[in-house]
Amino acid sequence: MYINVLIETKVKSNDMTFTYHVPDDMLDDNIIGKRVLVPFSNRVIEGFVIKYSSKPEDYLVKDIIKIIDDEPVLNEELLNLGKVMSQKYLCSLIYAYQAMLPKALKANHKSSKKYLTKTYVMLNNKDININDIKIKSQREIIELLKNNKEVLKSEIKSKSSLKKLIDNNIIKEFEKEVYREVVTSLDERSIKLTDKQKDVSSKIKSSLGKSSTTLLYGVTGSGKTEVYIDVLKEVIKRGEDAIVLVPEISLTPQITARFKGIFKDNIAILHSSLSDGERFDEFRKIKRGEVNIVIGARSAIFAPLKNIGIIIIDEEHSESYKQENNPRYNTLDIANIRSSVHSCPVLLGSATPTIESYARAKKGYYNLLELEERVNKRPLPKVIIVDMKNEMRRGNKIFSSILKEKIEEKIAKKEQVMLLLNRRGYSTYLTCSSCGYTFKCPNCDITLTYHKTSGMLRCHYCGFARGKTDICPECKEKEIRQIGSGTEKIEEEVRSTFKDARVLRMDADTTSNKGSHDKIINAFNSGNYDILVGTQMIAKGLNFPNVTLVGVINADSSLNIPNFRSSESTFSLLDQVIGRAGRAEKEGEAIIQTFNPDHYSIVYAKNHDYKRFFAREMMVRKKLNYPPYCFLTLIKISSKDFNYGIGEAKKISSFLNRNLSANTTVLGPSMANVLRINNTYNFEVILKYKKDDLLYKTLNEMIKIYEGNSKIKVELDFNPINL
Ligand code: ADP
Ligand code: ZN
Repeated sequence: MYINVLIETKVKSNDMTFTYHVPDDMLDDNIIGKRVLVPFSNRVIEGFVIKYSSKPEDYLVKDIIKIIDDEPVLNEELLNLGKVMSQKYLCSLIYAYQAMLPKALKANHKSSKKYLTKTYVMLNNKDININDIKIKSQREIIELLKNNKEVLKSEIKSKSSLKKLIDNNIIKEFEKEVYREVVTSLDERSIKLTDKQKDVSSKIKSSLGKSSTTLLYGVTGSGKTEVYIDVLKEVIKRGEDAIVLVPEISLTPQITARFKGIFKDNIAILHSSLSDGERFDEFRKIKRGEVNIVIGARSAIFAPLKNIGIIIIDEEHSESYKQENNPRYNTLDIANIRSSVHSCPVLLGSATPTIESYARAKKGYYNLLELEERVNKRPLPKVIIVDMKNEMRRGNKIFSSILKEKIEEKIAKKEQVMLLLNRRGYSTYLTCSSCGYTFKCPNCDITLTYHKTSGMLRCHYCGFARGKTDICPECKEKEIRQIGSGTEKIEEEVRSTFKDARVLRMDADTTSNKGSHDKIINAFNSGNYDILVGTQMIAKGLNFPNVTLVGVINADSSLNIPNFRSSESTFSLLDQVIGRAGRAEKEGEAIIQTFNPDHYSIVYAKNHDYKRFFAREMMVRKKLNYPPYCFLTLIKISSKDFNYGIGEAKKISSFLNRNLSANTTVLGPSMANVLRINNTYNFEVILKYKKDDLLYKTLNEMIKIYEGNSKIKVELDFNPINL
C-alpha cells in the first residue's frame, strides 16, 4: 500500500506531500487522517496521511516507520476543510491542519500527551463465597466489589488486605483510561423564557436543518444565553450536535457554568486555559461522539462533531474570532463552510454586531432577529459623560468628582462597582524630565511599561524586561517621571481614595495562572469585594447581579488607535462595559470619562443607540471607502534588514499594481504602526477592492516568489482586524 504523507519542513515552501510505502505488517484500512512517523532526509518526522497513492514508477519509495494514531486525528470533513482553507487564505495545507488540532494531536508535537490511566480493581470471580474469607477487612473489600463492578484502587483503605487478595488471585487489578476532569461550577437555575425570547427561539428553531446565517442583535442583558440554551435543547432532541463559540476565556467560566448546569456531561469544553492533557481528553470525547455540544473559543470551530445541527457564535463582534497568525482565518468563514457541509444554520449573537455583520443582515443576506429590551423590561443603565478637560483643571486626574461620589455612594449601599481602563501595568512609560529621555525597548520601537508589583519595565510586544532605575541613564539626573496610568495604578488609587473598599484587579497580569480568571470572577461574585478594576477583559459577557455602577476611566484609549475600526471598537467596548451594570433587580448606571465628549462613538454609547451608531459609521465608511463598501487585504512584509525589507516592499507594491485589475487600489508600502518588533522591521501593502478576478492568481504568484527566502517574510491577512 502506498500513501501520500503531508509533512512540515524547515524550508517554508508549498505543501510538502511525499509518497511512502506501508509495509505489510502495518497494513491499515483506516489510515487516512492518521499521523505516521516517516524517514525524511536523514531525519525521522511526523506527518499526516492525506490520501492513498499509486506506486511511483521512477523512484524508490521508503517505508513508513510507524503509525502513531489508533484513530484518525483528521476525518474526511476536516481533510477537505483544510484544502478549502489553504485555497481561501493561500496558506500551506499543513498549517491549516495544525490549526485544527489540539497541541497533543498536531504532527511533530514532541511530547505527545499520553492517555491518563488509573488503576482499578475487580473480582476475578463474582460468585466467590464471602464466608470462605476469614479476615474482616478482606470481607469488606469483597463485599464492596460484589456491589460495584470495579473500584478505583486508591479508594480502598486497607492496602495490605487488598494486596493479599490480589496475591491470592481473588481480585485483579487493571489499568483503565480515564478523562482528566475539567472542573467547572454549575449554574442550574431553571429559567422560564419571556415571550420575546420564546419568539426569537422559535424562529431560530424553524431554521434548523438548512444552511443559513442568522444575526441575533440583542441588547446587553436581553437574555441571549437562555435563547441559545432553548435552541440547543431542540437540536439535541433532533439527535444533532452543536458548536457554541465564546470569545475569550474570561467569559467562559460563567457561560460554561450555565451550559454545564443544563447539559451536564453532554458538553465538552475547549478553551485555552485548559492544560494540554485536559484539552486532549475533551477532544477525544468529541471524536468518540460522547457529547453533543462543544463550547469553546475560536479553535473549537474545528471540533470533529459528526452531525452538526447549529453553530452559535456568541459576541460575534469579538476580535478573538480572528486568528492572528498563520493561517489568519476568520472563524465565521469556517463556520459558513461547515454550515453548508452539515446543512445547519449559523447563529451570530451580539449587542454590538460588527458593522459588516449588521450591514449583511440589513441587506437580507442574514436573517435578522432582535431583542431590544432587557429581560423583564429592566432599564439599560443611565450614562453620564464627563469631560476630563474640565476635571483636569480642578486637579482631578484619575477620578472625576462625580465618579468619586458615585463610587462612595455604591460602597455605602453595599453594591458593586466595575472600573475599566484598557491598559495594563502601572504607568504607560517613564521619562526623564531633565533631558527628555524615555525608556524604550531595545528590540522594538515602543516605550516600556512600568509594572510596579514586579518593579520591572516591560515591553508588551516582545516581553523584554528590565529593572526600574531612579536615575536617568542619559543625563544621570534623578528626574524620572511616570507618565500615564494603567490598571495597576488605578487599583492603587482606588485603595488610597476609598479606604474601606475591597478591590480586585483583572488583567493579563493577574490572570496568567491557570484558573485565575475563575478565581477572580468567583471572588467578585461572592460579594467579598466592592470594586473590580480591569482591562477590556471585564467588559464582555460577565454577569454580576450586584454591579450597579460602571466607570470608564479613559474612553479615549481605543479611539486614538490608528485603525479604521477604532470608532466601532470604542462604541462596542463602551456599550458592552456599560451593559455590565444593573443586570438584576437594582438599576445600573455608568460614567464615561473622556477628552472627546462629543465623539459619536461615545455619544451613541451613552444612549445605547447601536442603530444610529451603525448609520453614522456606515456614512464614514462609505466616504472613506472602507469595509463593508470594499474588501481589504493586508500584505505584511517583514525583514531584519531595513533596506532589504523596504526595497522588496516597493517591488511587491509595483508587482501588484501591474498584475491586479485596474479597479483594485494598491496602497503603500508604508511602515507598520510599530515599525520594529523584536528587531524585525515591518512594512505593509494594503489592497482595496470590490471584486478582483486576478486577486488569487496574483497573490499566489507573489507568495511563490518569496517561498524559501529566509531574509524576508511575506504574509497575507484577508479582511484584517488591525489596520
Ligand atoms: P445577554 O447575554 O443577552 O447579555 P444574559 O443571557 O447573560 O444576557 O442574561 C442576563 C441576565 O438575565 C442573566 O442573569 C440571566 O440569567 C437572566 N435571564 C435571562 N433570561 C431570563 C428570563 N427569561 N427570566 C429571568 N431571568 C432571565
Ligand atoms: Zn520589545
